Amino acid sequence: MADLHPCDASIRHDLRTPLNHLIGYTEMLQEDLPAVCGKVLATPLQTLLDDAHQMLTTINRPTPLTVGRFDALFPDWRGKMALIEADFNHLYALIQAHWQSACPDIEKIHTAIGHLRVLLETLSAKPAIDLGDAATALPRDPTEAGTPAEGHLLVIDDRAENLELMQRRLMREGYRITTCNSGYEALARLESDNFDGILLDWLMPGMTGKEVLGKIRSKFSAHELPVIVVTARHGSDTIVEALTCGANDYLAKPLDFPVALARIATQVYLRKVTQQLAEANRQLKQFSYIDGLTAIANRRKFDEYLMTTWRRSQQEGAPVSLILIDVDYFKRYNDSLGHEAGDHALMKVAKAVSASLFRVKDLAARYGGEEFAVILPETALSDALSVAERVRATVAALELPHPASSVLPVVTISLGVAEWRPTAFCEPSALINLADKGLYQAKAAGRNQVGTLGST
Ligand code: GH3
Ligand code: MG
Ligand code: MG
Repeated sequence: MADLHPCDASIRHDLRTPLNHLIGYTEMLQEDLPAVCGKVLATPLQTLLDDAHQMLTTINRPTPLTVGRFDALFPDWRGKMALIEADFNHLYALIQAHWQSACPDIEKIHTAIGHLRVLLETLSAKPAIDLGDAATALPRDPTEAGTPAEGHLLVIDDRAENLELMQRRLMREGYRITTCNSGYEALARLESDNFDGILLDWLMPGMTGKEVLGKIRSKFSAHELPVIVVTARHGSDTIVEALTCGANDYLAKPLDFPVALARIATQVYLRKVTQQLAEANRQLKQFSYIDGLTAIANRRKFDEYLMTTWRRSQQEGAPVSLILIDVDYFKRYNDSLGHEAGDHALMKVAKAVSASLFRVKDLAARYGGEEFAVILPETALSDALSVAERVRATVAALELPHPASSVLPVVTISLGVAEWRPTAFCEPSALINLADKGLYQAKAAGRNQVGTLGST
């Protein structure tokens, strides 16, 4: 391996490209064939395909020599090329005779054969060439494509023929396709469009597949945006490199289309279920923060929100105010009107407390039993006292009959208010204790009122 010829390292790749186009367009012609032509064209099409695959196998076969004259490394190319050209001419004559409206794919097969011949002639004229790493062709999977697919795919490849082949075949399966012929263009598209998956050519001039993948992964995780690397390099080095750089999967050129479809569908499906799972988790978490009876925030949410507010206030030096609320003589309410009526009253009180808050960041929560709490971030005591008075008045205005109350014949609440400017060493329990003292004061002073011991 000492005589490697670095300039010709991608020779196998260059040879595979027109062959892959030839195979791709021939397969499409096979699929598009009207039934009436099937009998006549099926065999010549298959012969052309078989010969093209043989040529591919030869290109991929392990070669002990890495450097030498191309004709010596690949002695049978002229014979194989002649077979392919004869196959094509036969096919072309049949198409002219039996299928005048042949789609332009036959011209594309012709172009691919032309490219292949020019390439082979050029290589044959070179003094020495390097065939690079050898690899074997993948076995073909005869299974057919399944149900129509859903999803928007971004296909990135520097070759227009590759893009066209993949686009047409994937669109036929039901995918929505956007194509880009460079990494730069693809990254720009990613700024504005959403995709369910990406097919990324690994060998591209300018920005390579590896660089594009790196940029994609700096923005999107493998769960958010699956990337399938498409490579004509069959060696395990490229595959390992692609997977290590964040590819979800890889496909070898020429694409074995049923296999390619299955792998694409798997990645699109995995992305979908991962997203659904994340959404279900988000909803579950939301539910775990809601009180079952009153449908406002529960104690868990109260604890978390108070801690978040507290930490932010510690950093910003802002005050936090808290209102603790307790329904007056509620035991008597239950005793006189029944527990069910009591539940109903708690729901109405909760709604009234929430309705009295006008800022998004203020949080009303059920603190426990017949007790509620309101967290007022960035709020000084004077403003908190106003909010508390508004809450008291709103509940009283409900005029829910409470025949057993010693305050008024309607449901009333007592409220304790406190403000704290959190320092580095104090915890939220200090604020809760202070508000609780205010509440005790309100109860002791006759209920249906706001009590406070002031602020720190
Ligand atoms: P005070 O004015 O001193 O607060 O008197 P109170 O009767 O409201 O206080 P106490 O703590 O003695 O009683 C609270 C009552 O609230 C007792 C309990 O049955 C009732 N309670 C707590 N949670 C619920 C609930 O979810 N539904 C109903 N219906 N009642 C509840
Ligand atoms: Mg109570
Ligand atoms: Mg009470």
